[in-house]
Amino acid sequence: MADYDVVIIGAGAAGLAAATALTRHGFSIALVEARNRVGGRVYTVRPVGATLPIELGADFVHGRPSEIFGLATEAGLRLYEHTGNTWATREGRPEPEDADEDHGEDGNVAAIFAAIQDWRGDDRSLQRLLDERFADARWAGARGEIRRYAEGFDAAEIDRVSVAWLQQTELASDAIDGERQFRVLDGYDRVLTWLRDNLPASLADIRLLSVARELRWRRGQASLSITAPDGEPLGDINARAALVTVPLGVLQRSFDEPDSPGALQLSPEPPGKREAMRLLGMGHAMKVVLQFSDMFWDPLPDRRANGHHPITLPGVSFFFSDDHVMPTWWTSHPVAVPILTGWTGGPRAAALVDASDETILDEAVAALARVLGRKRRDLEKLLVARYVHNWGADPYARGGYSYVCAGGVPAPAALAEPVDDTLFFAGEATSTTGHTGMVHGALQTGYQAAEALLRSLRPGQ
Ligand SMILES: Cc1cc2nc3c(=O)[nH]c(=O)nc-3n(C[C@H](O)[C@H](O)[C@H](O)COP(=O)(O)OP(=O)(O)OC[C@H]3O[C@@H](n4cnc5c(N)ncnc54)[C@H](O)[C@@H]3O)c2cc1C
Repeated sequence: MADYDVVIIGAGAAGLAAATALTRHGFSIALVEARNRVGGRVYTVRPVGATLPIELGADFVHGRPSEIFGLATEAGLRLYEHTGNTWATREGRPEPEDADEDHGEDGNVAAIFAAIQDWRGDDRSLQRLLDERFADARWAGARGEIRRYAEGFDAAEIDRVSVAWLQQTELASDAIDGERQFRVLDGYDRVLTWLRDNLPASLADIRLLSVARELRWRRGQASLSITAPDGEPLGDINARAALVTVPLGVLQRSFDEPDSPGALQLSPEPPGKREAMRLLGMGHAMKVVLQFSDMFWDPLPDRRANGHHPITLPGVSFFFSDDHVMPTWWTSHPVAVPILTGWTGGPRAAALVDASDETILDEAVAALARVLGRKRRDLEKLLVARYVHNWGADPYARGGYSYVCAGGVPAPAALAEPVDDTLFFAGEATSTTGHTGMVHGALQTGYQAAEALLRSLRPGQ
């Protein structure tokens, strides 16, 4: 006898969206989460003394996705647009970037983006596209820029990432004003805690600190063994169907090393999933947040000219450099707070995963000193607090977010495909609409999985 209609594994964006939709239709659910909080890779902390909530996971609402803007309105959350000047290092000096200067001529990165957007041939990796079409020396700078973009934004490896998928993501982003970025002033986690707080207690059983270890399933039956994070058995949860929303990195690890921490064994192994996951990559992302005593990078005009500020970045929102450790930095502009966020993605982030948090933070401060042309100890004197969460080393994430490898455009749909009306899958890696790796993409997949469940099951039968 099933205790619930559906057991949902993972209380991130996808799991909470599915829980919301299912309970609205009268389904009973158990929502099983390994951490002591909901939200997953949306992770906001509010340390004493911090002037804004600190985002250790997702930061931006990319574009104007209705999934997030709708929830923010319902929840009364304040979103603000992240505007300001983009600066970039050119020949060792930071300069403001002129958005109009790149018209897609030969040698410009816009021409490579145009080639991706117009791509019509067989799929291939970005590296292969560059080798075939942009090998000439005059493209060297643009090749570096597109590599930094694919690694930094998509957390991808360029010799694996699919051109057809990059095209899909670019078009999907254009459709929702993706060049605009917004932040949740109250903290990104409030979007997801709003969903949690509105689950009806009569239908939703939220189990935190409950690690899903083994899901035994056959048509019409799913039985999930859970333990506490220290391994203490917490019994089984029986349901008529299961929805798996653990991150791709966790699922990949579960198939390859089923006994590793955080791994979820699916017994028997469902068909087609291993093959689908081979065509998907779990990208790495490393982000640090540094809080200073003042906004030394954007001093008031009267302090700018006194010679004590070798490099200043007035009105800066994003700052792109070619630093080999942490090339990308952003502020909270136009909200004036002395906080800088450092970011690296792809192979450079992967190289930091095995380092301690202390080492990562030290490396980040050293990188900031390099990109701003300052002495590290001078920056350290201004540093008030520093934060990092190593997602690659986190057993419940195993990376930042996913991307699609060459030839893999059908793979997210294959991963999402329900098995025997009993096993269902959701999460950012199952996005088929080009919103892979995004909070709104994860929410969409949760709602879609709930629709598939609604078609397969009638509540309480
Ligand atoms: C550093 C970083 C920055 C990012 N920045 C942005 C951004 O600016 N904008 C944006 O849109 N997106 C961003 N993302 C991506 C975004 O956070 C994710 O795409 C989205 O939150 C994923 O939601 P999800 O539900 O698919 O997965 P998750 O949020 O990971 O949810 C899965 C849940 O499963 C749980 N779990 C895992 N294993 C088990 C187990 N064995 N048993 C029980 N529970 C388990 C996890 O703890 C987690 O809560 C960022 C991600 C990272 C890491």
